[in-house]
Amino acid sequence: RFAPSPTGLLHLGNVRTALFNALMASKHKGTFLLRIEDTDLERSQESYIEALIKDLRWLGLVWQEGPGAENSAMTDVHIASYRQSQRGAVYDTYFSVLENNGQVYPCFCTEQELKLARKTQLAAGRPPRYSGRCHRLDKADVAARVAKGEPASLRFHVANGDEVEFEDGVRGLQKFHTDDIGDFIIRRSDGTPAFFFCNAVDDALMNVTLVLRGEDHLTNTPRQILLLQALNLDIPTYAHMAMVVGADGAPLSKRHGSRSVQEMRESGYFALAINNYLARLGHSYESNAYMSLTELAVNFDMAHLGRAPAHFDSAQLLHWQHEAILHASAVELWQWMGAEVHTLIPADVRDSFIRAVRANISLPEHALLWARVILTDELVLSDSAHAVIRAAGQPFFADALQILEQYKTDFRGLSDELKRVSGKKGKALFQPLRAALTGELDGPEMTHLLPLITQPRARQRLEAVLIISQAPA
Ligand code: GLU
Repeated sequence: RFAPSPTGLLHLGNVRTALFNALMASKHKGTFLLRIEDTDLERSQESYIEALIKDLRWLGLVWQEGPGAENSAMTDVHIASYRQSQRGAVYDTYFSVLENNGQVYPCFCTEQELKLARKTQLAAGRPPRYSGRCHRLDKADVAARVAKGEPASLRFHVANGDEVEFEDGVRGLQKFHTDDIGDFIIRRSDGTPAFFFCNAVDDALMNVTLVLRGEDHLTNTPRQILLLQALNLDIPTYAHMAMVVGADGAPLSKRHGSRSVQEMRESGYFALAINNYLARLGHSYESNAYMSLTELAVNFDMAHLGRAPAHFDSAQLLHWQHEAILHASAVELWQWMGAEVHTLIPADVRDSFIRAVRANISLPEHALLWARVILTDELVLSDSAHAVIRAAGQPFFADALQILEQYKTDFRGLSDELKRVSGKKGKALFQPLRAALTGELDGPEMTHLLPLITQPRARQRLEAVLIISQAPA
């Protein structure tokens, strides 16, 4: 299951969690469930829910249970909604169970008191944990304070001297001492339930068997297990995967080149490029082939999840984007290139244009750049192109102009003849030609570009550089 909190746009880190869960569900012919964890009413936004649903659908990660996939499970009173903000009554039921069992107690400590206690503990080199002060209060006293309406949170009591153990699907056996956990809050004094309470209760009620999530939740797990045991609910298998970090080892962020899925979609990334990249971020496949979602799922293996942090690498992401472009049909690529390219490139040269640029572009904006280079009447030369043109000298371009008349848009014929006439070869031959005809030193194959540039425009460009190449270098 994927259980995002809608407090921002999906980015590569959290979408990887969604992808791994979808792949596991698909591989094991299970159910992929989407649950919206929007109990933090201040930070949650409706627009983020809409955005994440759109993003997941676009990526092809289809959930069988969750918002928009209402099915028979919805008739179960314990489920009713996959949005936590609508599940208050369910949580109340389980708060009551714990109250009746005497496993919880009201805590009157103020935020300020707790802060101070934490500070003192940290200063003394001890892990911050609740002192248990309100657990020791006199019963009659507590009842009186509650009756008076004194604000109180609800704390779950954890007995000392015990251990919580579980087999983590990624990290193996995990052991936590209950002495280090302490009594924890499951309902805040404003009445809102704590994240890990709803999260654990919902996993059990929604029959979740596998919780595959980020390592940042590892320390929540023993508390969740204690809660589920107290409630006599099923405990899922927990598996905590290493976080995604940037090259500097810090949590992935914008400055590492990570973008929101929405931004990536809008700039022209292919969904399957993102999936192929993310499926290999902290998880390894034997094959380096570009795979469909089904293939990614069939070959997914939790044993291949790394325990070390996964390093985000934008070059790898681009590699998969290139693969997506190489695998796309001409019709798909044409669509992808967008309206501006469509108005520049005439329909009858569509296929030649795609053939020319396919290997040299990663985003639609690059296709637009080449469309402009091909069609512009006034070519802008890059500084390096300028330098190469001046170094080649005027006679080179005078020869090129003459040969163009004979060979027209046959670049091979033109360059062979120019090689013979000028005595230049290799870089000295090809670079100045490319610079003069495209304004750049790199780009698509000239044999493909020249017919698109057309002979009259090529002539114009060579004539224009005659003047530049005359100037002393
Ligand atoms: N809402 C939590 C989050 O977005 C979910 C954690 C979990 O997967 O259990 O971090």
